[in-house]
Amino acid sequence: MAKVDNLTTKVLLAMILGAIIGGIFNLFLMQVSFINEFMVGGVFQVIGQIFIKLLKMLVVPLVFVSLVCGVTALGDVTKLGRLGGKALLFYLFTTAIAIVLAISIANLIAPGEGFDLSSTTTQEFTPKEAPTLAETFINLVPSNPIESMAQGQMLPVIVFSILFGIAIMLAGESGKRIEQQFNDYNEINMKLIGILMKFAPLGVFCLIAKTFAMQGFDVFQPLMGYFITVILTLLVHAFIIFPVLIKVLSGLNPVIFLRKMRHVQLFAFSTASSNATIPINMENAKNNLGVQNSTASFTIPLGATINMDGTAIMQGVATVFIANVYGIDLGLGDFLAVILTATLASIGTAGVPGVGLIMLAMVLNQVNLPVEGIALIIGVDRLLDMIRTAVNVTGDSAGTLIIAHSEKELAHEVYKQ
Ligand code: ASP
Repeated sequence: MAKVDNLTTKVLLAMILGAIIGGIFNLFLMQVSFINEFMVGGVFQVIGQIFIKLLKMLVVPLVFVSLVCGVTALGDVTKLGRLGGKALLFYLFTTAIAIVLAISIANLIAPGEGFDLSSTTTQEFTPKEAPTLAETFINLVPSNPIESMAQGQMLPVIVFSILFGIAIMLAGESGKRIEQQFNDYNEINMKLIGILMKFAPLGVFCLIAKTFAMQGFDVFQPLMGYFITVILTLLVHAFIIFPVLIKVLSGLNPVIFLRKMRHVQLFAFSTASSNATIPINMENAKNNLGVQNSTASFTIPLGATINMDGTAIMQGVATVFIANVYGIDLGLGDFLAVILTATLASIGTAGVPGVGLIMLAMVLNQVNLPVEGIALIIGVDRLLDMIRTAVNVTGDSAGTLIIAHSEKELAHEVYKQ
């Protein structure tokens, strides 16, 4: 526990310092070419990107190895099916709650009403093709697992790892030998995460300082209503909905959960990527929340890939905002379509920065809202992306905790520490 607090404090201090220095650079010093080119575009950029790459470097080996270990530790396929079913149900259910909450709060606050389109400098937005639902299903299965690993596509890697793990379970003596080796690899991966964490405060400092130096504060003013509505809803979801779900579904004390999630949230915030946060989230689930590897290794990467409550919230508020700005009335049927599409879209949203905005195009299309509306909000999206990613990963852990508890795979003495 002391270890976690220590890391949290260091990362938090690094973030605050990064925000202050980045903010000062943005206000006064960006014209100075030394600051602009050498510090922000040079040092901060290089160290920040190296840090993100180090995190990402771990994701594929970690997910593959620990998922194989997780499956073999479960010991039977029925248990795996039950775990998968519960995870899917929980993740889709909470995403649907998130979007209903977002639409309700956005309708109350009504951001974008009386919005003057000329008051904001819009940026270009060319929507990329969002995958169709049929493609999303077909793409679950890799035709070449190495290719999926190389491209960092999580769902096909998860499917392959599960099948590989099942085969090990069924392979008798040879399976036993390989299982032991995978357990050893897993230990080594955990050590690697430990080494990386030493570098975390510096990496986080550079990422935050660069974001604050680049992101001017004036872009926020015309979009204040939208910005505040998204943040408010994210906070309600993280600090009211998740704790209530944890209390009701597992009886565990949610305050402990929130305390132990702090450093994971800081990482998600700094990297704006659920995928890059998988190693930290998994380590936290095992070592601090007390979840067994067989559950965490499965539910955390799955959640990072398909469970995006924070993203769904942004999409719900953005839909209402864009409808208001363009003076288009949405009926109940439209809202139901938004709920359904955004929930399904979250399955296809990769856990990397900015993808939520691309998937928003799919939601807007569904209810015939102008996709160009995305250009209005793109300027403030970076900061919102950071905050919603913190909510996304909190949802993955909340689900993991509840499922582990229901499967009797939670070490209560570790959780309470
Ligand atoms: N950055 C988010 C995540 O990784 C996805 C998004 O909303 O763009 O969880």
